Amino acid sequence: MSSQQFRRAGALWDSLVARTGQPAATGLVLLLLTGAIVTLTSPFHMLTGGQAHQTRLLGGVMTAVVLVCTVLPWRRWPDHAAMVFPVVTLLGLSALSAAATGLGAAYIGIFVLAFVYVGLFLPVHSCWLLLPVAVVLYGPTMGGWTREIVLRLVVVALVWLLTAEVLAALIARHRAALDALHAASRTDLLTRLENRRALQDHLQATPAGTVFVVCDLDHFKRVNDTRGHAHGDRVLAEFARVLRQSTRQGDHAVRYGGEEFLWVLQADASHVPRLLAGLHQAWSLSQARITFSCGWAVHNDQRSVQATLAAADSALYEAKRTGRDRDVAEAMTSTPSR
Ligand code: GH3
Ligand code: MG
Ligand code: MG
Repeated sequence: MSSQQFRRAGALWDSLVARTGQPAATGLVLLLLTGAIVTLTSPFHMLTGGQAHQTRLLGGVMTAVVLVCTVLPWRRWPDHAAMVFPVVTLLGLSALSAAATGLGAAYIGIFVLAFVYVGLFLPVHSCWLLLPVAVVLYGPTMGGWTREIVLRLVVVALVWLLTAEVLAALIARHRAALDALHAASRTDLLTRLENRRALQDHLQATPAGTVFVVCDLDHFKRVNDTRGHAHGDRVLAEFARVLRQSTRQGDHAVRYGGEEFLWVLQADASHVPRLLAGLHQAWSLSQARITFSCGWAVHNDQRSVQATLAAADSALYEAKRTGRDRDVAEAMTSTPSR
Protein backbone atom coordinates (compact mmCIF):
# COMPACT_ATOMS: atom_id res chain seq x y z
CA MET A 1 0.00 0.00 0.00
CA SER A 2 1.52 3.35 -1.01
CA SER A 3 1.62 6.24 1.44
CA GLN A 4 -1.04 8.01 -0.62
CA GLN A 5 -3.38 5.01 -0.34
CA PHE A 6 -2.70 4.93 3.40
CA ARG A 7 -3.64 8.61 3.66
CA ARG A 8 -6.80 8.04 1.62
CA ALA A 9 -7.79 5.07 3.79
CA GLY A 10 -7.08 7.18 6.88
CA ALA A 11 -9.28 10.01 5.59
CA LEU A 12 -12.07 7.51 4.81
CA TRP A 13 -11.80 6.09 8.31
CA ASP A 14 -11.83 9.57 9.88
CA SER A 15 -14.97 10.53 7.97
CA LEU A 16 -16.68 7.25 9.01
CA VAL A 17 -15.79 7.90 12.68
CA ALA A 18 -16.98 11.52 12.37
CA ARG A 19 -20.32 10.34 10.91
CA THR A 20 -21.05 7.28 13.06
CA GLY A 21 -18.85 7.67 16.17
CA GLN A 22 -16.01 5.40 17.29
CA PRO A 23 -18.10 2.47 18.67
CA ALA A 24 -20.18 2.08 15.49
CA ALA A 25 -17.20 2.56 13.15
CA THR A 26 -15.16 -0.12 14.91
CA GLY A 27 -18.29 -2.32 15.17
CA LEU A 28 -18.51 -2.22 11.38
CA VAL A 29 -14.85 -3.29 11.28
CA LEU A 30 -15.71 -6.24 13.55
CA LEU A 31 -18.44 -7.35 11.15
CA LEU A 32 -16.27 -6.87 8.07
CA LEU A 33 -13.31 -8.64 9.67
CA THR A 34 -15.49 -11.61 10.63
CA GLY A 35 -16.93 -11.69 7.09
CA ALA A 36 -13.43 -11.56 5.56
CA ILE A 37 -12.09 -14.36 7.80
CA VAL A 38 -15.05 -16.62 6.97
CA THR A 39 -15.02 -15.80 3.24
CA LEU A 40 -11.29 -16.44 2.89
CA THR A 41 -11.21 -19.69 4.85
CA SER A 42 -14.57 -21.40 4.23
CA PRO A 43 -13.52 -22.77 0.76
CA PHE A 44 -11.02 -25.00 2.61
CA HIS A 45 -13.79 -26.72 4.57
CA MET A 46 -14.89 -29.06 1.77
CA LEU A 47 -18.52 -27.93 1.90
CA THR A 48 -21.20 -29.75 -0.07
CA GLY A 49 -22.94 -27.81 -2.84
CA GLY A 50 -25.96 -27.12 -0.61
CA GLN A 51 -23.79 -25.97 2.30
CA ALA A 52 -21.74 -23.68 0.04
CA HIS A 53 -24.97 -22.18 -1.30
CA GLN A 54 -26.35 -21.61 2.24
CA THR A 55 -23.03 -20.05 3.31
CA ARG A 56 -23.06 -17.68 0.32
CA LEU A 57 -26.64 -16.73 1.15
CA LEU A 58 -25.63 -15.94 4.73
CA GLY A 59 -22.70 -13.88 3.38
CA GLY A 60 -25.21 -11.89 1.30
CA VAL A 61 -27.44 -11.26 4.33
CA MET A 62 -24.46 -10.14 6.43
CA THR A 63 -23.27 -7.78 3.66
CA ALA A 64 -26.76 -6.24 3.58
CA VAL A 65 -26.64 -5.81 7.37
CA VAL A 66 -23.25 -4.05 7.08
CA LEU A 67 -24.59 -1.72 4.38
CA VAL A 68 -27.65 -0.83 6.47
CA CYS A 69 -25.42 -0.24 9.51
CA THR A 70 -23.28 2.28 7.59
CA VAL A 71 -26.28 4.57 7.05
CA LEU A 72 -27.96 4.32 10.47
CA PRO A 73 -27.82 7.48 12.68
CA TRP A 74 -25.53 5.98 15.36
CA ARG A 75 -24.51 9.39 16.68
CA ARG A 76 -28.06 10.04 17.84
CA TRP A 77 -28.12 6.81 19.87
CA PRO A 78 -26.33 6.00 23.13
CA ASP A 79 -23.00 4.10 22.94
CA HIS A 80 -24.76 0.92 24.09
CA ALA A 81 -26.57 0.79 20.73
CA ALA A 82 -23.30 -0.46 19.21
CA MET A 83 -23.90 -3.71 21.13
CA VAL A 84 -25.73 -4.66 17.92
CA PHE A 85 -22.36 -5.35 16.24
CA PRO A 86 -21.04 -8.12 18.52
CA VAL A 87 -24.55 -9.59 18.79
CA VAL A 88 -24.93 -9.71 14.99
CA THR A 89 -21.42 -11.20 14.73
CA LEU A 90 -22.29 -14.02 17.13
CA LEU A 91 -25.68 -14.58 15.47
CA GLY A 92 -23.90 -14.76 12.09
CA LEU A 93 -21.49 -17.43 13.39
CA SER A 94 -24.25 -19.58 14.86
CA ALA A 95 -26.22 -19.18 11.60
CA LEU A 96 -23.08 -20.38 9.82
CA SER A 97 -23.19 -23.55 11.91
CA ALA A 98 -26.84 -23.99 10.96
CA ALA A 99 -26.00 -23.55 7.26
CA ALA A 100 -23.13 -26.03 7.35
CA THR A 101 -23.29 -28.20 10.48
CA GLY A 102 -20.46 -27.46 12.91
CA LEU A 103 -18.74 -24.95 10.57
CA GLY A 104 -19.19 -22.19 13.16
CA ALA A 105 -16.98 -24.15 15.58
CA ALA A 106 -13.99 -23.39 13.34
CA TYR A 107 -14.59 -19.69 14.01
CA ILE A 108 -15.40 -19.88 17.73
CA GLY A 109 -12.31 -17.74 18.44
CA ILE A 110 -14.24 -14.82 17.00
CA PHE A 111 -16.43 -14.93 20.14
CA VAL A 112 -13.37 -13.61 22.01
CA LEU A 113 -12.97 -10.90 19.38
CA ALA A 114 -16.56 -9.80 20.08
CA PHE A 115 -15.74 -9.45 23.81
CA VAL A 116 -12.49 -7.63 23.01
CA TYR A 117 -14.57 -5.19 20.97
CA VAL A 118 -17.01 -4.67 23.84
CA GLY A 119 -14.14 -4.11 26.30
CA LEU A 120 -12.41 -1.61 24.06
CA PHE A 121 -15.27 0.40 22.62
CA LEU A 122 -18.40 0.08 24.77
CA PRO A 123 -19.01 1.50 28.27
CA VAL A 124 -17.53 -0.37 31.25
CA HIS A 125 -19.34 -3.62 32.24
CA SER A 126 -21.13 -3.86 28.85
CA CYS A 127 -19.72 -7.39 28.52
CA TRP A 128 -22.35 -8.57 31.01
CA LEU A 129 -25.00 -7.65 28.42
CA LEU A 130 -23.27 -9.69 25.72
CA LEU A 131 -22.65 -12.68 28.00
CA PRO A 132 -26.21 -14.18 27.92
CA VAL A 133 -26.29 -13.91 24.12
CA ALA A 134 -22.87 -15.56 23.82
CA VAL A 135 -23.79 -18.30 26.29
CA VAL A 136 -27.01 -19.14 24.42
CA LEU A 137 -25.31 -19.12 21.00
CA TYR A 138 -22.15 -21.00 22.05
CA GLY A 139 -23.78 -24.46 21.95
CA PRO A 140 -25.42 -24.14 18.50
CA THR A 141 -22.25 -22.56 17.09
CA MET A 142 -20.17 -25.48 18.39
CA GLY A 143 -22.57 -27.88 16.64
CA GLY A 144 -24.94 -28.64 19.52
CA TRP A 145 -24.99 -28.89 23.31
CA THR A 146 -23.04 -31.74 24.93
CA ARG A 147 -21.64 -32.21 28.44
CA GLU A 148 -18.17 -31.43 27.03
CA ILE A 149 -19.39 -28.17 25.42
CA VAL A 150 -21.05 -27.05 28.67
CA LEU A 151 -17.79 -27.62 30.58
CA ARG A 152 -15.82 -25.72 27.96
CA LEU A 153 -18.33 -22.89 28.09
CA VAL A 154 -17.66 -22.34 31.80
CA VAL A 155 -13.98 -21.74 31.09
CA VAL A 156 -14.39 -19.69 27.92
CA ALA A 157 -17.11 -17.51 29.48
CA LEU A 158 -14.67 -16.64 32.26
CA VAL A 159 -12.03 -15.77 29.67
CA TRP A 160 -14.53 -13.61 27.76
CA LEU A 161 -15.53 -11.68 30.87
CA LEU A 162 -11.99 -11.28 32.14
CA THR A 163 -10.72 -10.08 28.76
CA ALA A 164 -13.52 -7.54 28.31
CA GLU A 165 -13.47 -6.24 31.90
CA VAL A 166 -9.67 -5.84 32.03
CA LEU A 167 -9.68 -4.01 28.70
CA ALA A 168 -12.61 -1.81 29.76
CA ALA A 169 -10.90 -0.94 33.06
CA LEU A 170 -7.65 -0.07 31.27
CA ILE A 171 -9.48 2.06 28.72
CA ALA A 172 -11.41 3.86 31.50
CA ARG A 173 -8.15 4.61 33.35
CA HIS A 174 -6.50 5.73 30.13
CA ARG A 175 -9.44 8.01 29.32
CA ALA A 176 -9.46 9.52 32.83
CA ALA A 177 -5.70 10.17 32.57
CA LEU A 178 -6.18 11.79 29.16
CA ASP A 179 -9.01 13.98 30.48
CA ALA A 180 -6.86 15.04 33.44
CA LEU A 181 -3.93 15.81 31.12
CA HIS A 182 -6.21 17.75 28.80
CA ALA A 183 -7.59 19.79 31.70
CA ALA A 184 -4.07 20.37 33.11
CA SER A 185 -2.76 21.52 29.74
CA ARG A 186 -5.48 24.20 29.66
CA THR A 187 -5.18 25.41 33.24
CA ASP A 188 -2.71 27.87 34.73
CA LEU A 189 -0.99 26.19 37.67
CA LEU A 190 -0.76 29.25 39.93
CA THR A 191 -4.16 30.84 39.43
CA ARG A 192 -6.24 27.81 38.28
CA LEU A 193 -7.66 30.03 35.54
CA GLU A 194 -7.72 28.91 31.92
CA ASN A 195 -4.44 29.54 30.11
CA ARG A 196 -3.63 30.70 26.60
CA ARG A 197 -3.99 27.19 25.16
CA ALA A 198 -7.63 27.12 26.33
CA LEU A 199 -8.03 30.66 25.05
CA GLN A 200 -6.98 29.52 21.55
CA ASP A 201 -10.00 27.19 21.51
CA HIS A 202 -12.40 29.93 22.58
CA LEU A 203 -10.97 32.22 19.92
CA GLN A 204 -11.78 29.68 17.17
CA ALA A 205 -15.41 30.73 17.36
CA THR A 206 -15.54 34.33 18.45
CA PRO A 207 -18.83 35.98 17.45
CA ALA A 208 -18.96 39.65 16.56
CA GLY A 209 -19.82 41.66 19.65
CA THR A 210 -17.53 39.67 21.96
CA VAL A 211 -15.76 42.00 24.36
CA PHE A 212 -12.08 41.44 25.14
CA VAL A 213 -10.83 43.06 28.33
CA VAL A 214 -7.11 42.94 29.15
CA CYS A 215 -6.54 43.55 32.88
CA ASP A 216 -3.04 44.26 34.18
CA LEU A 217 -2.00 44.77 37.79
CA ASP A 218 -0.42 48.17 38.36
CA HIS A 219 3.22 48.38 39.43
CA PHE A 220 3.17 44.71 40.24
CA LYS A 221 6.94 44.48 39.98
CA ARG A 222 7.11 46.59 43.13
CA VAL A 223 5.09 43.95 45.01
CA ASN A 224 7.69 41.34 44.11
CA ASP A 225 10.56 43.68 44.85
CA THR A 226 9.28 44.82 48.24
CA ARG A 227 7.39 41.77 49.59
CA GLY A 228 8.95 38.90 47.70
CA HIS A 229 7.99 36.68 44.81
CA ALA A 230 5.93 34.30 46.96
CA HIS A 231 3.74 37.17 48.13
CA GLY A 232 3.44 38.28 44.49
CA ASP A 233 2.20 34.80 43.66
CA ARG A 234 -0.47 35.05 46.35
CA VAL A 235 -1.62 38.41 44.99
CA LEU A 236 -1.95 36.90 41.50
CA ALA A 237 -3.93 33.94 42.87
CA GLU A 238 -6.18 36.33 44.80
CA PHE A 239 -6.80 38.48 41.74
CA ALA A 240 -7.68 35.33 39.79
CA ARG A 241 -10.16 34.34 42.52
CA VAL A 242 -11.89 37.72 42.37
CA LEU A 243 -11.91 37.65 38.57
CA ARG A 244 -13.35 34.12 38.56
CA GLN A 245 -16.08 35.10 41.00
CA SER A 246 -17.03 38.04 38.81
CA THR A 247 -17.16 35.90 35.66
CA ARG A 248 -20.63 34.98 34.47
CA GLN A 249 -21.67 31.74 32.79
CA GLY A 250 -20.55 31.76 29.15
CA ASP A 251 -17.78 34.30 29.77
CA HIS A 252 -14.12 33.36 30.25
CA ALA A 253 -11.34 34.46 32.59
CA VAL A 254 -7.86 33.63 31.30
CA ARG A 255 -4.37 34.20 32.67
CA TYR A 256 -2.97 35.96 29.63
CA GLY A 257 0.59 36.55 30.78
CA GLY A 258 2.54 37.18 34.02
CA GLU A 259 0.27 39.71 35.75
CA GLU A 260 -2.09 40.15 32.82
CA PHE A 261 -5.53 38.61 32.62
CA LEU A 262 -8.01 38.44 29.78
CA TRP A 263 -11.73 38.66 30.35
CA VAL A 264 -13.78 37.46 27.39
CA LEU A 265 -17.32 38.70 27.76
CA GLN A 266 -20.51 38.12 25.83
CA ALA A 267 -21.93 41.46 26.84
CA ASP A 268 -23.35 44.58 25.31
CA ALA A 269 -20.60 47.21 25.10
CA SER A 270 -22.80 49.62 27.06
CA HIS A 271 -22.70 47.22 30.05
CA VAL A 272 -18.90 46.84 30.13
CA PRO A 273 -18.14 49.94 32.26
CA ARG A 274 -20.58 48.64 34.90
CA LEU A 275 -19.04 45.15 34.82
CA LEU A 276 -15.55 46.61 35.19
CA ALA A 277 -16.65 48.92 37.99
CA GLY A 278 -17.96 45.81 39.77
CA LEU A 279 -14.61 44.08 39.29
CA HIS A 280 -12.67 47.06 40.69
CA GLN A 281 -15.10 47.18 43.60
CA ALA A 282 -14.69 43.44 44.35
CA TRP A 283 -10.88 43.75 44.12
CA SER A 284 -10.81 46.77 46.42
CA LEU A 285 -12.25 44.53 49.16
CA SER A 286 -9.26 42.16 48.94
CA GLN A 287 -6.22 42.45 51.20
CA ALA A 288 -3.91 43.33 48.31
CA ARG A 289 -3.25 47.04 48.26
CA ILE A 290 -2.63 47.39 44.55
CA THR A 291 -4.78 48.52 41.70
CA PHE A 292 -5.25 47.29 38.16
CA SER A 293 -5.93 48.82 34.77
CA CYS A 294 -7.97 47.53 31.85
CA GLY A 295 -8.08 48.06 28.12
CA TRP A 296 -11.01 46.71 26.18
CA ALA A 297 -12.27 46.37 22.64
CA VAL A 298 -15.34 44.90 20.95
CA HIS A 299 -14.78 42.32 18.23
CA ASN A 300 -16.39 42.80 14.83
CA ASP A 301 -16.45 40.88 11.55
CA GLN A 302 -14.26 43.44 9.81
CA ARG A 303 -11.11 42.34 11.63
CA SER A 304 -9.32 39.32 13.00
CA VAL A 305 -9.54 38.31 16.67
CA GLN A 306 -5.82 39.11 16.92
CA ALA A 307 -6.54 42.65 15.72
CA THR A 308 -9.26 43.05 18.37
CA LEU A 309 -6.90 41.75 21.06
CA ALA A 310 -4.22 44.17 19.85
CA ALA A 311 -6.78 46.99 20.07
CA ALA A 312 -7.61 46.01 23.69
CA ASP A 313 -3.86 45.91 24.42
CA SER A 314 -3.37 49.42 22.98
CA ALA A 315 -6.25 50.64 25.13
CA LEU A 316 -4.52 49.10 28.16
CA TYR A 317 -1.33 50.91 27.23
CA GLU A 318 -3.36 54.11 27.13
CA ALA A 319 -4.78 53.36 30.61
CA LYS A 320 -1.24 52.92 31.92
CA ARG A 321 -0.01 56.06 30.17
CA THR A 322 -2.79 58.20 31.56
CA GLY A 323 -2.30 57.27 35.20
CA ARG A 324 -3.29 53.57 35.84
CA ASP A 325 -6.18 52.32 38.02
CA ARG A 326 -8.57 52.97 35.16
CA ASP A 327 -10.36 51.35 32.23
CA VAL A 328 -9.98 52.50 28.65
CA ALA A 329 -12.04 51.36 25.71
CA GLU A 330 -10.53 51.24 22.25
CA ALA A 331 -10.41 54.75 20.75
CA MET A 332 -12.02 56.33 23.82
CA THR A 333 -10.70 58.71 26.37
CA SER A 334 -9.73 57.23 29.72
CA THR A 335 -12.00 57.33 32.78
CA PRO A 336 -10.80 56.68 36.31
CA SER A 337 -12.24 53.37 37.55
CA ARG A 338 -13.62 54.95 40.73
P1 GH3 B 1 2.70 48.27 35.04
O1 GH3 B 1 1.83 49.01 35.97
O2 GH3 B 1 3.24 49.16 33.95
O3 GH3 B 1 2.05 47.07 34.47
O4 GH3 B 1 3.96 47.81 35.85
P2 GH3 B 1 4.29 46.36 36.38
O5 GH3 B 1 5.37 46.46 37.38
O6 GH3 B 1 3.04 45.71 36.82
O7 GH3 B 1 4.75 45.65 35.06
P3 GH3 B 1 6.14 45.02 34.64
O8 GH3 B 1 5.90 44.43 33.27
O9 GH3 B 1 7.24 46.00 34.76
O10 GH3 B 1 6.39 43.87 35.68
C1 GH3 B 1 5.59 42.73 35.75
C2 GH3 B 1 6.13 41.86 36.83
O11 GH3 B 1 5.34 40.70 37.03
C3 GH3 B 1 7.54 41.36 36.53
C4 GH3 B 1 7.49 39.87 36.76
O12 GH3 B 1 8.55 39.43 37.55
C5 GH3 B 1 6.20 39.70 37.53
N1 GH3 B 1 5.61 38.40 37.31
C6 GH3 B 1 5.25 37.80 36.14
N2 GH3 B 1 4.77 36.57 36.38
C7 GH3 B 1 4.82 36.37 37.72
C8 GH3 B 1 4.45 35.27 38.55
O13 GH3 B 1 3.97 34.23 38.14
N3 GH3 B 1 4.67 35.43 39.88
C9 GH3 B 1 5.18 36.58 40.41
N4 GH3 B 1 5.34 36.67 41.72
N5 GH3 B 1 5.55 37.60 39.64
C10 GH3 B 1 5.37 37.52 38.31
MG1 MG C 1 1.48 45.37 35.43
MG1 MG D 1 2.03 43.49 32.27
